Formats: sequence, C-alpha cells, structure tokens
Amino acid sequence: MNNLWDDEESQQFVGDAALRVYTSRLLGRDKALVLHGGGNTSVKVAEENIFGEIEEILYVKGSGWDLEKIEEAGFSPVKCDYLRQLAALPTLSDPQMVNELVTHMTRSSAPVPSVEAILHAILPYKYVDHTHADSVVTISNSVDGEARIREIYGNLVVIIPYVMPGFDLARICAKRFAEDSSSDTIGMVLLNHGIFSFGTTAKESYGRMIHLVGLAEEYLQLKRAWNVKDKPSTAPCKITISDLTGLRREISDVAGYPMILSRHVDKNCLSFTNRSDLATVARQGPATPDHVIRTKRLPMIGYNVRAYVEEYKEYFAEHAPLAKEHKSMLDPAPRVILDKALGLCSVGRTAKDADIVAELYKHTMDIIRRATALGGYHALPAKDIFDVEYWDLEQAKLKKGGKLPDFSGEIALVTGAASGIGKSCVEVLLARGAAVVGVDLNPKIELLYKRADYLGIACDLTDPAAIQKILEQVANRYGGLDMLVLNAGVFPSGCRIESLSSNDWRQVMTINLDVNQSLMKECYPLLKLAPRGGRIVVIGSKNVPAPGPGAAAYSASKAALNQLARVAALEWGDDNIRINSLHPNAVFDTSLWTEEILISRAKHYGLSVDEYKKNNVLKTEVSSRDVAELAAEMCGSLFAKTTGAQLPVDGGNDRVI
Ligand code: ZN
Repeated sequence: MNNLWDDEESQQFVGDAALRVYTSRLLGRDKALVLHGGGNTSVKVAEENIFGEIEEILYVKGSGWDLEKIEEAGFSPVKCDYLRQLAALPTLSDPQMVNELVTHMTRSSAPVPSVEAILHAILPYKYVDHTHADSVVTISNSVDGEARIREIYGNLVVIIPYVMPGFDLARICAKRFAEDSSSDTIGMVLLNHGIFSFGTTAKESYGRMIHLVGLAEEYLQLKRAWNVKDKPSTAPCKITISDLTGLRREISDVAGYPMILSRHVDKNCLSFTNRSDLATVARQGPATPDHVIRTKRLPMIGYNVRAYVEEYKEYFAEHAPLAKEHKSMLDPAPRVILDKALGLCSVGRTAKDADIVAELYKHTMDIIRRATALGGYHALPAKDIFDVEYWDLEQAKLKKGGKLPDFSGEIALVTGAASGIGKSCVEVLLARGAAVVGVDLNPKIELLYKRADYLGIACDLTDPAAIQKILEQVANRYGGLDMLVLNAGVFPSGCRIESLSSNDWRQVMTINLDVNQSLMKECYPLLKLAPRGGRIVVIGSKNVPAPGPGAAAYSASKAALNQLARVAALEWGDDNIRINSLHPNAVFDTSLWTEEILISRAKHYGLSVDEYKKNNVLKTEVSSRDVAELAAEMCGSLFAKTTGAQLPVDGGNDRVI
C-alpha cells in the first residue's frame, strides 16, 4: 500500500477543507481502498454562525460523490453538536436519521450527508477517513477473522462487530469507542464492513489509513495469501451470439425491463469461474455492505435463470415474510453470472452500472481467493445481506432515481455514424439512454465518445465477415441488439444513365442496398430477442418518391432498399420487429456538403445560400439533428403500433406531397 501524499502537490490545497479534498482524492485513487462512491471522509471545522457564535461544523462526504473526484462542494456541512446529541438517543429510524441530517446542515444547497455522518461526528478527531479496503475485509471475512484482526492491530484499533450501516452502527461505535479506545488508538475496524482512521491533520489521518491497511496487506503476504492465482482455465469456449442474446432476454424478462449484459473473459475471470470450489466460495455474498447494494445477493452460477429465480423467491420469502412494502421492489434478476465457458457476466440497467458491477466483482474474486488461502471465505449470513439489499434508504434512493430515460438498458447500432445524420443519431440515442454502437469506415468512429454506453467500430461493411464480427462484439459488450439504424450510404456525383459505368452502378448498389440487406439478415436473430421488440429505421431519401435526373444508381438503390424494408415489415411483424423509413431531403450539415458546393448550387438556382437551404414548402432548414430525433422517435413508444411506414422529413416538398 503506497502513501501517495506529495508535499509539493499538497501545497495547492490551502485550508482545512481543501486538504480534506486532497487526501480524499488520494484515497479515491487507490482502487484497493474504495470503489465507485464507496468510503467517506470528514473534517470538523469551527465556524461563526449568523449570530456571531462559534459552532463546530462537520464537513462530511455528501451522497452521490466519488472520493476520487470530490470537490469542496461535495462535502455537506452539518452541526456537529447536534449529531452527537442524536447519537445518544436510544433509537432512531433510518429515514428519521436522514431527515435530521438534512435539516441540520448550514448550507441548503449541499448534498444529502453520508448515512455514516453520525459515526464521523462521535469520533473525537478533526479528520476522519473511512474505506472498505480489500485487504481488511478479506481478513475479516475469513475463518477466525476477528482473532486475526486483533492479532494484526493489537491496541491500534477499536473493533466493532458487524451491524448494518445506519443509526444503530453509529450508536454502537460511540459506546465501544468510549470503552475500548486508548492513547494508542489510531483507527477502528468494522468487521465485515471496513476500516476508519483519524488524526489531527489530513496528512496524519490519511497516513494512518495507509499504515493500517498496509499492515493487513503484510499479514496476507506473510500467510502466503497475497499473490494467489487460480489454475489457468482449460474449458473450451463455445459461447455463441445467440447464447448471450438469449440470456440477456431471459434476465430482462425476469427483471421486467431491458438490461445490459457484459461479458468478461480475461484470464483472471475465466480461471476464477473454473475453480472446482466455485459453487461453495461464490455463493456466500459480497464482503462488505457497500458491494451488496450494487452487485445484489448472490451470483448466478451456470445459466439456468429459472432455477435462480425460484431460489431467489425462496430466499425472499424466508427473510422478508412480513415486509409487504418490499414486494413491489422484488427484482429477482441476477447482477453477476459465473460460468465455466461464459466467464464473468455483469448485468445492469445501464452499461455504466454493468461495468461497476464487474469491477466490484473482480475485487470480490481477489478477496475470495485470498480469504480461501487463509483457510476459508466466510461472508455475512444471508439475513444480513438481505437487510442491506432491501435497506429503506437504498430503496428510497432507487425510487428517487427510478425514472431512467426511455431507452435505458437497450442497445442500438447505427451505420455511417462518424458524421452527419449517423453521428446525430448516436447523440440522440445516447441522450435517450440507449447503449450505442457506432459503425463507420472512418477510424475516428472509435474515439467519438469515451463512455461505457458507447462502442465505436471502424470497419468496411462490404466485407461479408465484418458483420458477424461486429455482432459478436456487440453481444459480448452489451448482450444483444434492440435497434438498428441503417444510415450508411453513398451519393455519387451526377451522372446520366448513358454514361454510367457498370462498376459505379454496382458500387452504389453494394453499399446502399446489399450491405443493408446483409445487416438486416444477420441482425434478425438478435432483434427477434429484443425484450421490447426489435426496431429498424431506414434512412431513405426524397429520391424514393421523387427521383431526380443524374442520380439513377442512387435513386434506384434507395428505392430497392425501401421495398426491402416494406417486405421486412410484412415478414417480421410476427417477431415483433418494426421497420419504418425516413425520407430526408436537403440536409446540408453533413460531410457531403461543403461551403463551396452550397454556394455553387445556390447560384445555379439563382438563390442565396439561405434561400437555397430553406427551399421547401415550410421555408425551414432541415438539420441532421431533426432527422436523428425522428429516427429515435420511430424506435420509441409513439411509433409502437406503426410498421412499414414511410415519413418525409424535408420541410415539405411539392413533388412528394
Ligand atoms: Zn462504510
């Protein structure tokens, strides 16, 4: 465990609050200490209130902030004396506690304080740091965990038995701390949960955290439980696209909404899923309540979704026989799937969620490996894990954040996505919550966005092997396909039929027609398994209803594509796949139109550029964004009962009308 404190770097942080920010970020940088919003920190500061009185204020991490990226605004100022008074109450329900925290802040715009705020307040130190360090939870979740923790730390820490986070935990910590602390005490270990350190300066408190966690790491090394590797996997990998798509469909059906499923098959995951004791070690639940909330209950082993759901329902009935209010929240879908051939699959309502689940579980795999090497992994009893999973406060958070964008959990593929209408479609679909795969010949497609819900693939779709390869990538990354936007196409410069070479004709037909037919054919099995039904949007052209001279190959290819879409609407209705076409015209913010071409075309018609752009019935300009919004809408609920339709998006064209 490295101490990342840097004297020079720390100079940029002046004052108590700024230094609190600095060392919080140092903790956040080390993934063996905290992951994804886990852990929390605080500082106590004397401040003058509006009456001129000096009050002690606890600045504690606000919920929704990640330590790695926290700023001063991410800390919630709460009156410290009031928190200490609360800690003396015999009972306080969690929702009441949150109400008291929020109503005793000194800045109304601050985030909701961490539920561990009272715990920070009762510790009599200026700076308090709290993490769920892997090595500490590894040891406390192993055989004789408590004795080992005592052996490692002696008088350095006060040990707190497991209690669910919230008011009761704060109360027990206050009591134990008063009884058990000594002048040697520099921290507190919460069994099956995590560790606290404290000090009079930010540097001291942070340094003690690193020291304490370092002792746990040294202990694991000493016991030969640090560099633990599983035997490499020899299992043959026979997973197909349809296996993954089918699995995602089943899980989405169980959850009641579409889910993203991501597959991880690196050596680390495959060797773990091939352990002979997988069923025993992996079926005990996570090592800290912090992980329970994201990864939920137990992983599914193998891929029998039905058996998993049955087992989950029994578990639910056993632990919450009376908790009727929880029944509405019952979601028996797994979040982690472990299988010899499949590797690790993570499931989430968004791609980001699925990635967080995977990262948390990768840490859990290391914790399990090391705890097993120490003699055995012993996680919390099922009842405790259940209580955290269905914790009032977490449920309240879920309800609050419950309204996700329309296409959350769904996956869209857009062709010709590096520029113009295709690029706008990517933007619009991302904004509506879908995970989007952008495909283009232009390699810059791969760098269009750097986010979990975007995958850019540069490839030539006229290569027959390319499409299968793309779909394999899509199935492994997101688990399936719900929407297909056929946008890629070429518009060669004007050429009359008598001068059109068969090569040029063939090339336009290949790109505008043949590629789309192949894509539709290969995507069909995936679209058929889309939880809410598959959708295809064809970006057609005004030239379908109203062709122009000099564009024979283009007009013929788009007309043939249009007819193909209509037949697909007839054939695939039974599979709940909808296919609709858009006919844009005069969309000038695409790479086809440069300023010079615009000027020369406008001049040709004796118009100004502005008049030329708005040369339609409504005298309005049509942008890529307009077309993209309509394409997305066609995948949404407004068009749920429409298939085989063709819609112009051209500001009104007298030849089309
Ligand atoms: Zn915690």
